[in-house]
Amino acid sequence: VKGYSGQQVAVLGLGRSGLATAVALQAGGAEPLLWDDSPEARLKAEADGFTLTDLTRHGALDGVAALITSPGIPHLYPAPHPVIARAFAAGVPVDNDIGLFFQSAASSEWAEMETPPKVVAVTGSNGKSTTTALIHHILEVAGRPTQMAGNIGKGVLSIDPPLDGEVVVLELSSYQTELARALTPDVAVFTNLSPDHLDRHGGMGGYFAAKARLFTQGGPDRAVIGVDEAEGWFLAGQMAQGPMDDRVIRISSGQKLEGFGWSVFVRKGFLAEWRKGRQVASVDLREVKGLPGAHNHQNACAAYAACRSLGLAPKLIEGALHSFAGLPHRSQLVGEKGGVRFVNDSKATNVDSAAKALQAFPKIRWIAGGLGKDGGIAGLKPHLGSVVKAYLIGHSARDFALQLGDTPHEICETMERAVARAAAEAVAGDVVLLAPAAASFDQYPNFEKRGEDFTAQVRALIG
Ligand code: ADP
Repeated sequence: VKGYSGQQVAVLGLGRSGLATAVALQAGGAEPLLWDDSPEARLKAEADGFTLTDLTRHGALDGVAALITSPGIPHLYPAPHPVIARAFAAGVPVDNDIGLFFQSAASSEWAEMETPPKVVAVTGSNGKSTTTALIHHILEVAGRPTQMAGNIGKGVLSIDPPLDGEVVVLELSSYQTELARALTPDVAVFTNLSPDHLDRHGGMGGYFAAKARLFTQGGPDRAVIGVDEAEGWFLAGQMAQGPMDDRVIRISSGQKLEGFGWSVFVRKGFLAEWRKGRQVASVDLREVKGLPGAHNHQNACAAYAACRSLGLAPKLIEGALHSFAGLPHRSQLVGEKGGVRFVNDSKATNVDSAAKALQAFPKIRWIAGGLGKDGGIAGLKPHLGSVVKAYLIGHSARDFALQLGDTPHEICETMERAVARAAAEAVAGDVVLLAPAAASFDQYPNFEKRGEDFTAQVRALIG
């Protein structure tokens, strides 16, 4: 990290990204002052050879050039962390690793390379990881050097030095875009917007504003924007100088978008690319196995558009869509026996992503529950038509049972029992789907472990 040589920079939060930030600052000649509220994190940092500075002490920020914080630390809602509040009051710039990355890594040295590396950054409520991994996969198939970072893969400040012509694909959460002072990707992607993490962003307006910053803090050369919600329409309108401005690529999983400078959308299973009133390419998505459901068609549009704006040919992208295996725990087919498919969507931790999963298959034996979110599954009422029966697990099982009303259901408590019961009752054509609509922390350390448990139970049953 350049730009702070010879200066002190405070780093609050010593998780993976905090420690990587400390190393990167040091490498750039800055002196990092490190702190974490958690004694365990401090011990670990010291064991790794770092020196600590108590940033909560009065005057600790005197003379520092910037304060770099971690995404887990609140800086606005419900209230700023006291150290961040003090930085704000003293006029010390507050930034994060993403801001540092764009401010320095992606600047001078890259510009001098023969084919300067490019950065694609993906944000949105759902589909970020899938879209990021899909773009990365398409680039690999195209033979372009590429790596993923951010919320997926490595931290942004830990990436390998990019090669000539490399494309760095970043997944960015709203916590990361909310604070970064510089956000200047070459291509920015906004997949969609639905309520999530609202407590940390002070409501829907703040949440959208946090994501929209990817387009307004320096901004991308090209914007790929999902317009399936009003906020996306608004953002695309803001970014474009009129509907024919082809620096904005509007994408949709269902709407015809023909009257624009550049658009990519899905109708009746076909992805269509339009430019200035003419269709220029079409891809049959019906046989693309790794991307089931309309929500994945949205991700396919986003990745297709991002790769087109990097200059890749439609035919090449089409081939790469076919070879994409999907990400674990996102609508992942983990087994099939006697015409019954078993699908792991453990990542469906909120109502919106679970709704998408419930719409992706016609007859579902639905394993749901865990640590429920506000409102439980009330928002899923319109999507229960495909549910043959629900098998409820975890802390929220009884609560979900009440909300299910007439939809057949059974309280199973554990994954083992839920998989066994669903498999025993399933008939050919059914999909046994884990899409919990709840967090995993009541029974598992994370959603990955929950998905692995489901997969293990399925394999044990069907061999
Ligand atoms: P993120 O990284 O944004 O959390 P993922 O790709 O990990 O997104 O998917 C998260 C959850 O949302 C999964 O359950 C997945 O099946 C579902 N999902 C994926 N893409 C979309 C989309 N475009 N719209 C709604 N839900 C989606």
